[in-house]
Amino acid sequence: MTESDPSETLFERIIAREIPADIVHETATTMAFRDISPQADTHVLVVPKTRYRNVGELAAADPALLADVIATAHRVAELDGLVDSGYRVVFNTGADAGQTVFHVHAHVLGGEQLGFFGRYRDEADDD
Ligand code: 5GP
Repeated sequence: MTESDPSETLFERIIAREIPADIVHETATTMAFRDISPQADTHVLVVPKTRYRNVGELAAADPALLADVIATAHRVAELDGLVDSGYRVVFNTGADAGQTVFHVHAHVLGGEQLGFFGRYRDEADDD
């Protein structure tokens, strides 16, 4: 999906500045804004201004734009002072990964020691 109703997801409305967001960086092709429900001291979402549903579709259709997204993620890390301490870039893709917004976005996480990630653990599994 490359051409779609520009109002189809929340992130198109943020890019169009119809919905307010804490925008930390913007380029001709990307926008970075803070996640409304941060999971780390720094939790910023980086989106391409052109909509693809997920990172696989973006990589197949426009690898240069994917490179722009990664470069913006690194710029966000520079702006938040994370380059020396380290940071994580995550693309949730599909249901098992918990993707909820189907406009591809990179999560940039850092600013504190991050936990491990992977298999879902229920509290009951710890017994
Ligand atoms: P996903 O679960 O699709 O990988 O990530 C979607 C992210 O969008 C979530 O981390 C969620 O907190 C964030 N989010 C949802 N609604 C809004 C909003 O209105 N504004 C901002 N800035 N982030 C949002």
